[in-house]
Amino acid sequence: MKLYLDFDPCQECNTMMAELSSPEMLFADEKTRSDESAKFLRHLTYNHNEVVQAVMEDLPKQKKGSRT
Ligand SMILES: [Zn+2]
Repeated sequence: MKLYLDFDPCQECNTMMAELSSPEMLFADEKTRSDESAKFLRHLTYNHNEVVQAVMEDLPKQKKGSRT
């Protein structure tokens, strides 16, 4: 998973992004990798919700009834 977003990663983000792109992770099995990705996404959801919102808005799908 590659995630280059315009936000201020905290220490935890940096650690997890480093883990995700580490050589160990490249050779890890799929479950480990998806676990790590899920962990990172969960962290983003709870700690950097604006990033998640931005990603959602970036997705090429129709959004209706969004609050403004
Ligand atoms: Zn963070």
